[in-house]
Amino acid sequence: MNQLSLNRRHFLRLSAVASAAALAPQWLTAQANDMVAQSRATAAKTPITATKLYDNLFLLQGVGGNMALQTGPDGKILIDSSYSTAVPAILDAIKKAGDGPADALINTHWHFDHTDGNAGIHAAGYTIFAHENTRKRLTTPQTIKAFGMSLDPAPAAAWPTVTFDSTMHAWQNGDSLDLVHFEPAHTDSDIYIHFHKADVLHVGDTWFNGFYPFIDESSGGSIGGMIAANVTALNVASDTTKIIPGHGPVGSKGDLQRFHDVLSAIRDKVAALKSSGASENEAIAKKPTAEFDSVWGHGILTPDQFTGIVYRTI
Ligand SMILES: [Zn+2]
Ligand SMILES: [Zn+2]
Repeated sequence: MNQLSLNRRHFLRLSAVASAAALAPQWLTAQANDMVAQSRATAAKTPITATKLYDNLFLLQGVGGNMALQTGPDGKILIDSSYSTAVPAILDAIKKAGDGPADALINTHWHFDHTDGNAGIHAAGYTIFAHENTRKRLTTPQTIKAFGMSLDPAPAAAWPTVTFDSTMHAWQNGDSLDLVHFEPAHTDSDIYIHFHKADVLHVGDTWFNGFYPFIDESSGGSIGGMIAANVTALNVASDTTKIIPGHGPVGSKGDLQRFHDVLSAIRDKVAALKSSGASENEAIAKKPTAEFDSVWGHGILTPDQFTGIVYRTI
């Protein structure tokens, strides 16, 4: 179904030209500016670390979502682009990691901590690939209700120019890649990228390894969708697969299973409260996450904030 087979020729042919004017970061409204400006300022002075996961596959980490890089003679493939201000450090890390011409940038989903660097990476010669909903959301005004954010469309140079509906396949640098859309989970634009030979799976923000995840209810995300996405990823991974989460350290299938189990237990508790007639505030007051908070409650969301999202998206 809507399955595309992409090879190197496609990757190379489908390139577009960045316009200098489109690179100006004018796409954020005042509400969103503070949060994004702060992150950009932090990203500007944060080094990018590269960790080898396989011969030609690296984890790149700085501020923003976890990135991955495949190197080789067919062309480099980067997954996610962090913040615009991190782009010089990302390009430096890419150069040091190995040989190969610039080729493809794949976005795991539309959120700015994964796509704000798109225009800069594109200007360095990378063609942007993503699910069609990532393009839809980057080309139109968006809101992120949980953070009170309104975002203008991203500049044209940041837009994915090759999109797909359900799956896409690529054969590059001696490996084969599956790009597969999850049913709406963290957003409605989430995909996973599976490198078969390297045995590496990038699942984007359907996994926050070690803490309660943000789920973007304004973009079609839900707790049930997150749990279903975890099941999908668990079915793809083997016991030896290295799984890259959107945030947090690389983990194993067992780590992802634990995250899935915590989400499922909390979903069940909040669902029981909701069906017994508890309001959102009443459900939060019952502390349904309490048994998990000492381990999982120290991330970007407080336990109460996470309970609210779970309640609203059940
Ligand atoms: Zn993220
Ligand atoms: Zn996200």
